[in-house]
Amino acid sequence: MEKLKERIQQIKKKRPGYGEILDFYQKVKEAQANVKASLKIDPIHLKKEWKELLSKEGFSLIQKEDFPLDIESSVKLFQTLCQIGREANPHMAEQARKIEEAIDKKGIDLKKILKKGLKEERIEQDADELGLDKKFFPFLIQSSTKPSIEAGMEKLRRELDPETWLKGYCPVCGSLPFLSLLKEEVGKRYLICSYCGYEWRIDRMFCPFCSNKEQGSLHYLFAEREEAYRIDLCEKCHQYIKTIDYRKLEKSDPVLEDLATLHFDILASQKGYKRPVPNPWIT
Ligand SMILES: [Zn+2]
Ligand SMILES: [Zn+2]
Repeated sequence: MEKLKERIQQIKKKRPGYGEILDFYQKVKEAQANVKASLKIDPIHLKKEWKELLSKEGFSLIQKEDFPLDIESSVKLFQTLCQIGREANPHMAEQARKIEEAIDKKGIDLKKILKKGLKEERIEQDADELGLDKKFFPFLIQSSTKPSIEAGMEKLRRELDPETWLKGYCPVCGSLPFLSLLKEEVGKRYLICSYCGYEWRIDRMFCPFCSNKEQGSLHYLFAEREEAYRIDLCEKCHQYIKTIDYRKLEKSDPVLEDLATLHFDILASQKGYKRPVPNPWIT
């Protein structure tokens, strides 16, 4: 946490415009870190045929909704995050107020929502039915279950070899990556899962969204004096992924680096490229 706070201060100095969102990020991370030590996560029993399907057919080990959740802890964290949202800015305060009101007056049972498993479409549908914001409510649900999901992913880590999967989707849960990283002197490339945070190796010339490998249709954009970041564009599917070059940046939280480089996303979007996994922090 101390390193994260230091890095946040550094970024804020350089780009004061990010101050508000980074303060919010720091508070959410602190709240998530506080529940980690006391999490109670059921073991995940992998069936033998699942592992066979993984190696033969390229299926992920589990599905998003299969992650065991610590429901009690998630509900408590949800309430803490609502409180943080209330203090963050007027828009979030309004959203948090609406959510709390819906829980009080309409008797929304968060536990029930969480017990049904986390399926994005379903959570969005729940939000819609309850007259809640279709971005902020799912964001809160996702952030309050994140510690459980990451703990589940950690349990499955030893089942996999991150160096040999080489596909555009996560071997643990099948979700798309939100970010790519370059590491070590030779610049090995890795993807990070947008859902469970698992990290796996990928070829340097490869679009994770359409599996394009043709050199001529894969380009990248970068900005002067920001050599640690770039946008990898694919001319085939017109989508992009942001890449952080950890050869040019001290080790830091990739989610934070993604959040602190929204100007790269704006640049890519102005040029007509889409980001398949939107940044969840822009609510
Ligand atoms: Zn995953
Ligand atoms: Zn592509």
